[in-house]
Parts: sequence; structure tokens; C-alpha cells
Amino acid sequence: MTQVFLASRNAKKIAEMERILREHAPELEVLGLDDLAGLGLASYDEPVEDAPSFEGNALLKARAGLQATGLPTVADDSGLCVDALNGMPGVLSARWSGPPKSDARNNELLLAQLADVPDDRRGAHFTCAIAFVHDAGEVVVHGRMDGHVLREVRGAGGFGYDVLFVADDRPGLTTAELSREDKDAISHRGRALRELAPVVAAVLSGP
Ligand code: IMP
Repeated sequence: MTQVFLASRNAKKIAEMERILREHAPELEVLGLDDLAGLGLASYDEPVEDAPSFEGNALLKARAGLQATGLPTVADDSGLCVDALNGMPGVLSARWSGPPKSDARNNELLLAQLADVPDDRRGAHFTCAIAFVHDAGEVVVHGRMDGHVLREVRGAGGFGYDVLFVADDRPGLTTAELSREDKDAISHRGRALRELAPVVAAVLSGP
């Protein structure tokens, strides 16, 4: 078996995951939700991400993927946890400013909420849980990237809150100003994926 299903339609995430997993399993192919029709598999209703934790949401998405496709399945959940907001937006990061989802409005709202917070109390971290669910078991790995939230947006790369976030490991640049490789090297998702890769490779290569 060389195929892994990633319960996502995000082409960037699928490519990122394939790149990192292939360092351990060169033959491996990562399929996303949009690839199901081509495989003769029916699409399915993605579960509502209503768990109170990143791990819970990653697991419910991965279990639904395995059940629908029969393929070993990976799913992630991630978000920004801001110290001055007691860890929020957290699991609500994608929809912090309400529907429809908008990165620009989320960033505006976050800036407004932190307007009175002084520079030395603007600490935050991105966190990510990635679940891998297959016929014989379940694994969840975690990754984290520490940093702080700026007072204005800067940079054109990345997505989400990247334009407001400066990582401790790359001071002076927002994560929206880093190259893709530079962000992968320090990011919450990159770290978690690199931990998961050998586990996926071992499961796929069989006993
Ligand atoms: P999801 O795990 O893809 O649902 O992402 C949740 C939300 O967290 C995203 O919509 C972003 O708002 C935020 N987020 C997660 N990871 C990152 C990142 O690497 N950069 C910026 N924002 C992120």
C-alpha cells in the first residue's frame, strides 16, 4: 500500500504533506478529498469540527476519512493561541470573526482585541495536532511554534494569521515573509509532520 488519504481539499497542505512524508517513504502518494472521484470512491460529508481540542478535531476528521475511503488517513487541526486572550482564538481560529471565513477580518478583529496590550505581553503560539488513523490503530502528534503578535499586518506569503506573527526562531520577519521552506523548518505543522512521517512509513511498509 502506498496511498495515504489526507482529509482536506487544501492543495497546499496536500503538497506539503506529500513533500515531507516522501522524505521517509519515497513511493508514497497523498490523496485529498478532490481525488476521490478519480479513484471511483464516493465523496462524503465531512464531520463538523466541534471538538473542544485540536486533537479531538483532528481525530474526528481522520476517523471519518478512514471510514469513507478505507485508506489510512491523516487529518490535522491547527490554530493560533494568544496569551493575552487566554489561549483564544485556539480551535476557533479559522472562524474567529464569524462566517463567512475571512483571514482579513480575523486579523482585523485580533488587532482590535490586542490594541491595548503592550509589546511585552503579546506572546502567542501556533499549535497543530495531526491524527493518523489506520486499520490497526491511531496516532496523534503535536507541533508548536512560539512567537508574538505584531501591531500591523506585514508580508504577502503564507495564510491566516501569518501576516501578524513573528516566530521566536526567525525574529524580524513575519511568517508571511518567510520562504515556504523556511516556514516548514520551524512551523507547528512542519514539526508535527516530520515526527509523523516515519510512523506512516512504517505502517505502510507492513509488518
Ligand atoms: P485549519 O487547521 O486548516 O482548520 O486552520 C485553522 C486556522 O488556524 C486557519 O484558518 C488559520 O486561521 C490558523 N492557522 C493555522 N495554521 C496557521 C499558519 O501556519 N499560519 C497562519 N494561520 C494559521
